[in-house]
Amino acid sequence: MPIPGAIDPVPVPRGADLARVADGRIELLGQSKDGLRAALEGEGLDARQAKLRAKQLWHWIYNRGVSDFDSMSDIAKVQRPWLKERFVISRPEVVEAQVSSDGTRKWLLRTRDGNDFEMVFIPDADRGTLCVSSQVGCTLNCRFCHTGTMRLVRNLEPSEIVGQVMLARDALGEWPSQPDGRMLTNIVMMGMGEPLYNFDHVRDSLKIVMDGDGLGLSKRRITLSTSGVVPMMGRCGEEIGVNLAVSLHAVTKEVRDEIVPINRKYGIEELLQACADYPGANNARRITFEYVMLKDKNDSDEDARELVRLIRHYKLPAKVNLIPFNPWPGAPYECSTPERIRAFSNIIFEGGISAPVRTPRGRDIDAACGQLKTASEKKRRSVIDAETEAAG
Ligand code: SAH
Ligand code: SF4
Repeated sequence: MPIPGAIDPVPVPRGADLARVADGRIELLGQSKDGLRAALEGEGLDARQAKLRAKQLWHWIYNRGVSDFDSMSDIAKVQRPWLKERFVISRPEVVEAQVSSDGTRKWLLRTRDGNDFEMVFIPDADRGTLCVSSQVGCTLNCRFCHTGTMRLVRNLEPSEIVGQVMLARDALGEWPSQPDGRMLTNIVMMGMGEPLYNFDHVRDSLKIVMDGDGLGLSKRRITLSTSGVVPMMGRCGEEIGVNLAVSLHAVTKEVRDEIVPINRKYGIEELLQACADYPGANNARRITFEYVMLKDKNDSDEDARELVRLIRHYKLPAKVNLIPFNPWPGAPYECSTPERIRAFSNIIFEGGISAPVRTPRGRDIDAACGQLKTASEKKRRSVIDAETEAAG
């Protein structure tokens, strides 16, 4: 299997000018504060006006959730049509929205150029976590992951990454933005795609999400998950500063090469050294190692003991998240038994490392990575089949 990316991050072909809608107007969502100002100046406002309007727009967009210029009451009435002619503030199109019996919500979203991707919201007693996608599909082909089997890949634009958070806030009715009492408290970059292969857009988007004048989510409540793009991990800590999760999933070269093929490029030792060097990691801010439990593949007592040894050897402030494998049609693996998962967890725990088992959520709506998109494609295909049949 070819390992994508002779250079990092992998350049992914982009569509047309995605910052413009079909009618030529400019998308304001996902622009930095400076970008907003430059967009206004570019359309003819003088520097002073542009600065003032950019500040007002930022507040309306990210603090109030407003996407209609007519509702921006402190912007002069005569200026609103001028803005409307030139700019838009949009959201990804919702193709499908589902709510699970356990409260998990899942959306299938569509980009302006017709690519589908997903977003999941997982409510808990004391927090609510939004799982955000960074790409349509993924180039990395991890063998247990359904997203990796999708052929089409494109990086999501900042407007499409920030757009997910905006859409979730819309759906939860959480405007204006406020520090306390909100349902959406945490963000994990664990949806479709490898966030460190779309580094610039992910960084710019998360900076907007963390901005105190707007969405105001703290970096401590944001976690970025990577399959191990070693050369970008340092920059992730320095330039974004969020918590790091690493999809380890195996402790031997043989098994990790098979299930997480990027391992053939950046091996376990290199990866764990990058974790040890991750800026900002300490005992209060641990690195999370994700470990998907695959029957007879990576789930032996020996594997668990080796995991403890590796974490100790690299002196990593770490916790381990054990994820029961979520099967999909044609998947080459099965999930480990609950007894095996418990035994595995106990060994790590006895090694002094926290190793909770992640409870599967939203199983009735296929709320795992890459699965809603597939379900909807299946449905679309079956509708097409039915129509073809009806047509005789
Ligand atoms: N590309 C990044 C982030 C997206 S995947 C990464 O790989 O870390 C988010 C997490 O879901 C990863 O830990 C991934 O390994 C896990 N995952 C993917 N498919 C899964 C499946 N079928 N069952 C359980 N976990 C899965
Ligand atoms: Fe891509 Fe992550 Fe899935 Fe691997 S697990 S194919 S890196 S999305």
